[in-house]
Amino acid sequence: MEQHGRPDPTSSAEGRRLRLLALEAFAREGRAPTLAELARSTAAPPGQVRELLGDLADAHLLVLDGAGDSIRMAHPFAASPMGFVVTPLGEGDDRRWWGGCAWDSFGISAALGLDVRVDTTCPHCSASLSVPAGPATPPPEHLVVRFPRPAPEWWDDVVATCSAIRMFCSRDHADRWTAAHAPGRGRVVSAVTVWDLARDWYADRLDPDFRRPTREHQQALLDERGLDGDFWRLPPGPRREDDA
Ligand SMILES: [Zn+2]
Repeated sequence: MEQHGRPDPTSSAEGRRLRLLALEAFAREGRAPTLAELARSTAAPPGQVRELLGDLADAHLLVLDGAGDSIRMAHPFAASPMGFVVTPLGEGDDRRWWGGCAWDSFGISAALGLDVRVDTTCPHCSASLSVPAGPATPPPEHLVVRFPRPAPEWWDDVVATCSAIRMFCSRDHADRWTAAHAPGRGRVVSAVTVWDLARDWYADRLDPDFRRPTREHQQALLDERGLDGDFWRLPPGPRREDDA
């Protein structure tokens, strides 16, 4: 995962613009823009757009499909169903988004500064969970989120990781599900903590001047919420050329 010497794609105007266009399309339409649409918007050759998308994916700012020519995720947005639907609460706002996981679903609210409803099901009892959340509205306190694997493994297969970061109706149900399906694996965290983390983690994703956050910044966001120890230790991962 080390990317020493690779330029940070958000250090160039082209990289920032392409990333923002992708995020804006998700925000506006709930879907990923196609490579052809991005090429048209940027007036750049498709080959060049594809290469830049690859750089953004290497920097963990996008996730591409296997063939590398379409966008699978642009956190907190996802291009196809992953267990969560995010619906704005504002009257007349008919947008909908696929939440990539519990964390990303709160992240969509944070990135858009929007009150939403997050719909999912408890993996243990299959109860429908319809969760109000917003920039100033935490989710109900009885809900929890289970993280399936430690932070160093998140990006080994990030789609699988996100797909498995699920919300449970109670800590008891998360513990019983874990005992049945993955004994001793993962961590269970209050949904309020995950919501609070998402507020800082994702708040600036639609800023035109967004720059890829450093590992140290993101580690501090976890630490501040008591998410510390080896399980939450982010790997060195992709590096920016200008990392100190
Ligand atoms: Zn349940």
